[in-house]
Amino acid sequence: MTDSAPPPRARFAPSPTGYFHVGSARAALFNWLFVRRHGGTFVLRIEDTDEERNRAEWTDGITSALEWLGMAPDEGPYFQSAQGDAHGTAIEALWESGALYACGCTREEIDGRTKLRAAAGDPTPGYDGHCRSLGLPRGDGRALRFRTPDEGVVLVSDLVRGEVEFPQRALDDFICVKGNGKALFVLANAVDDRTMAISHVIRGEDQLPTTPKQIMLWDALNEAMKSDLALPTYAHLPLLVNEQGKKLSKRRDPVAVEMYREQGYLPVAFRNYLALLGWSPGVEEIVPLDTLIETFRLEDVQRSPAFFDIQKLSHMNGVYIRQLPVTGFIAAARPWVDPQPGEWVPGGWRDPDTDTPIVAGPAWTRGRFEAAKFARLAQVTQERVAVLGEVPDLVDFLFLAEVPTDASSWQKAIERDEAAPGILAAALEAYGTCEWTIEELHRVTLGIAEASGKKLGKAQAPIRVAVMGRDRGLPLFDSLEALGRDETLRRISTALARVHPGT
Ligand code: GLU
Ligand code: ZN
Repeated sequence: MTDSAPPPRARFAPSPTGYFHVGSARAALFNWLFVRRHGGTFVLRIEDTDEERNRAEWTDGITSALEWLGMAPDEGPYFQSAQGDAHGTAIEALWESGALYACGCTREEIDGRTKLRAAAGDPTPGYDGHCRSLGLPRGDGRALRFRTPDEGVVLVSDLVRGEVEFPQRALDDFICVKGNGKALFVLANAVDDRTMAISHVIRGEDQLPTTPKQIMLWDALNEAMKSDLALPTYAHLPLLVNEQGKKLSKRRDPVAVEMYREQGYLPVAFRNYLALLGWSPGVEEIVPLDTLIETFRLEDVQRSPAFFDIQKLSHMNGVYIRQLPVTGFIAAARPWVDPQPGEWVPGGWRDPDTDTPIVAGPAWTRGRFEAAKFARLAQVTQERVAVLGEVPDLVDFLFLAEVPTDASSWQKAIERDEAAPGILAAALEAYGTCEWTIEELHRVTLGIAEASGKKLGKAQAPIRVAVMGRDRGLPLFDSLEALGRDETLRRISTALARVHPGT
């Protein structure tokens, strides 16, 4: 972009046919970074013309995911389905100019002829131009095809891919208007870009093969409508692949942005990670938004597929979580530990394939949550989680009326350790009177460990299982301090009674 160019208008044009794919989110982000960098306009256009596959909730999913990621559109959402008049005008003009012709062939007839051609040694797939010069009238359910020149090339100048040539011989006379008179995607998309004065088309590489057709349509529309709208500048973003190098698929891979939100990824971290998919701002990977915007250049986007690395994403999320001030962490974790009615909460989104929630809500009933107790453990929790969805399990012992005991932890730490009952009894006594601080709890427990001839870590295990239900989790003394003396003593007594029934 030169400095004198008018501010760009880029659009994100998803089809609401499923949950919000991480590849779509990356495309949205690159559009957004590009317009932010150049002071342009980010347009959202919902391409909802595939009536059978569109659902209103997918559109809501798109707008709420964009908002979550801090990329609400500057303009829109426009709905492609509301652009019927503009599509109709374009179709009329193309028809009048002779760029289109009606085709009465059925799918079977076309396939049959393709097979015959193949048998005769010509493997060219696609439509053979059968109706090109028949002069069929419109109507009667006939589709309209674009008269593609037989010779020449269409040149796609792409900011990412460079100059890509498409020989016109290889492009068949494609359908632009369906039998019902409605514009097909390839035409509707180009007409909308004209209507919305789009200057930059930034989208996934899967749309590259459509581009020469859209360029031909653009030129044909200019001619038919006696206009000379400049072709948008194209930038096709590299494919996202999994660790096997395979294209991310809805079946195999976790691709729904909604799912990452449920699991407790922070929007800043998720956005930072998405920015690195096919582009790099330099050596540092944790990059403030301002720097992303200042350094983003479509020309620097790579061509080779980008690996969507969930481990790297969750590592990055952990780094962002630890960078939060404790109060920020508490606020960010709130939907997972203290969901508020009427606000977004995790657990509401169900995997559409299995119809199960991605995360369960907290295990305790709502009224049992105590903000002050959670705050006491916030810092040690913050240091230990990669995603916010891990928080409830770490602090559940604070809020559950009865903490379930993990059977194998109980066996290992209490049943199979002869010293365990003695340690629990000693703890019951010492904790009954000691000062209730983390340091004091540490000190008296050290004494119990020494008296039983164990290392502190080993001596902690039965106490931890008695109070927290399992042998891993947050640091013990911080946990006891937050839980409080009375409840700690009650749980240790209950455990003792279970080891020595009847005493
Ligand atoms: N609606 C198309 C899709 O979701 C994208 C079209 C475009 O960005 O040009 O695949
Ligand atoms: Zn035909």
